[in-house]
Amino acid sequence: MIDRIKVLEEISQELEPIASKRSHWNSAVQDYADNFLDDFNLHNTYVVSETMGKEIYDFPIEEEGKSIEEVLKCLNDNVDTPNLNPASGGHFGYIPGGGVFTTALGDYLAAVTNRYAGIFFACPGGVRMENMLLRWMCNMVGYPATALGNLTSGGSIANLSAITTARDAKGIKAKDIERCVIYMTKQLHHCVQKSFRIAGMRECIIRYIPMDDSFRMKDRKLHEQILKDKGNNLLPFMVFGSAGTTDTGSIDPLESIGIIAKENDLWFHVDAAYGGFFMLSEKLKPAFKGVELSDSIAIDPHKGLFLSYGIGAILIKDTEALYQTHHYTANYMQDAFTLDEDPSPADLSPELTKHFRGLRMWISLQLFGVAPFRAALEEKIALCQYFYKEVQKLGFEVGPEPDLSIAIFRYVPKTGNVNAFNQNIVDQIMKDGRLFLSSTTLDGEYWIRFAVLSFRTHLEQVQLALQLLKKLV
Ligand SMILES: *Cc1c(COP(=O)(O)O)cnc(C)c1O
Repeated sequence: MIDRIKVLEEISQELEPIASKRSHWNSAVQDYADNFLDDFNLHNTYVVSETMGKEIYDFPIEEEGKSIEEVLKCLNDNVDTPNLNPASGGHFGYIPGGGVFTTALGDYLAAVTNRYAGIFFACPGGVRMENMLLRWMCNMVGYPATALGNLTSGGSIANLSAITTARDAKGIKAKDIERCVIYMTKQLHHCVQKSFRIAGMRECIIRYIPMDDSFRMKDRKLHEQILKDKGNNLLPFMVFGSAGTTDTGSIDPLESIGIIAKENDLWFHVDAAYGGFFMLSEKLKPAFKGVELSDSIAIDPHKGLFLSYGIGAILIKDTEALYQTHHYTANYMQDAFTLDEDPSPADLSPELTKHFRGLRMWISLQLFGVAPFRAALEEKIALCQYFYKEVQKLGFEVGPEPDLSIAIFRYVPKTGNVNAFNQNIVDQIMKDGRLFLSSTTLDGEYWIRFAVLSFRTHLEQVQLALQLLKKLV
C-alpha cells in the first residue's frame, strides 16, 4: 500500500510545479499578455476567419502535458484571433466589454491563494471586502447603510436573484402564479423573461407598458394598467425599470415608477446592468433620480466599471429578504455557521463554492482610484454626443437624443430598400474589421447602434467610425 501511494505521489506532485517551471510559465503567459496589450491598435476589432477556431479540436486533451508554447499558440490562433475582439476600443456593438488590466492581477492572486470568500468564518477579510464593495455601490445609488447584495457572475444572475427574492418576499406561491402580473417595457433586457421561466413563473402575466418617443415607460399607462389589473382580481406583483436599455440606453422615469410601485405594494426592480456606473458622475446622476426608491438593482462592474467579464451585482435594500430566499444549512456545514458580524455571500446567493470575484474589483479601485473611472464614463457620454451630432452632418437619420452612451442611426437612400442598405453598412464595417457595430430592429425598422462603453474607446476610434460611414454612403 505504502509503495503504491509513493508511486502515485511522485506523479501527482507534478501538480505543484517547482519554482523554475513556474517562472517559465509565468513569463510565457506574461509575454503573451504583453504582446496582446502592446499590439492593441494593430489588432482588428473583428477578424473574419475561415476556420472559426475549429482547430481547437485538433489539439486534444491527453495523458501527457504539452509545452506552454504549444498551448499558447493554440489559444492565440483559435480563441484570441477569430471574430470579435471585445477588448478593442473599436468595439461599438452590443454593450462593449472592458478588461482593465488590474482585473487580471486580482484574478491571478485570487486563483493562487484560492481563499474561500463564501462564508465569513473561512475568510472574514474576503467577505468584508466583498461586502464593502457592495456597500460602496449601495451608497452610490442612494440606498441606506443597511442595504447589501451579492456579487454575481453578471447581470442576468443578478436579475434572477432579484426575481426569486421578490417572489418570496411578496409571498407568491405556485397557486398564485397565473394571477401574478409583472410590468415592464418591451425594451427591458430579455434576461428578465428568461429569469421568470427559471424561477418557475412562466405562467405569470406580462404587461408591456407603452413607451414615449425616447423609449421610456409611460408612467401614467403603468398606473392605469395596475388599477385595471387590481380591479380584475389579479395580483400586480413586480415592476421593472431600466436605467439604460440595451437598444438605446434609455432611462425609464424611475421616480414616478417608484412612487406608483410603493402606493400599490409592488416590488420595484431596476435593471442598471449597463447604465448603473454612470451614477459615479455627479453630472450624470440627476438622470437616475428615483433609483433609490427601488427595492433592488442589477448592476454590472464588467460593463460600466470596465472590469473583465465575470462580475455583476445585485444590490438590495432588504438584506433579510435576500437571505430568506438564499440561505440554507446542512449538517456538514455545522462548523461554518457562527453568529457572523458580516453576512456571508453563500447566504445571499445560489452559489456556495464561488470565485473570489471581489478581489478583482477591489484591487482595481484601490490601484487606480475612482477618478479615472469617472473620467472615462464622462468621456464615453461626450463621445456619444459628439457622434450623434456629427453623424447627422453626414446625412444620417438618428433616433432619440441619447440618455447615456448609446445612439441609433440609419441612412435613408433616395431609392432602394432602407433596411438592406443599412444592413450592408454593418456588413462592410465588419469586413473592414477595424471597428465593430451591431444593429437592432425598432418598430420593424432596422437601426444601426453606436454603443460607446469600452475604456479603450477615445476620439480616434469615433472619428474613424465617422470616416468609414462617410465613405460608405
Ligand atoms: C448586459 C445586460 C444584462 C445582462 O447582463 P449579463 O452581465 O450579460 O448577464 C441585463 N440588462 C441589461 C440592461 C444589460 O445591458
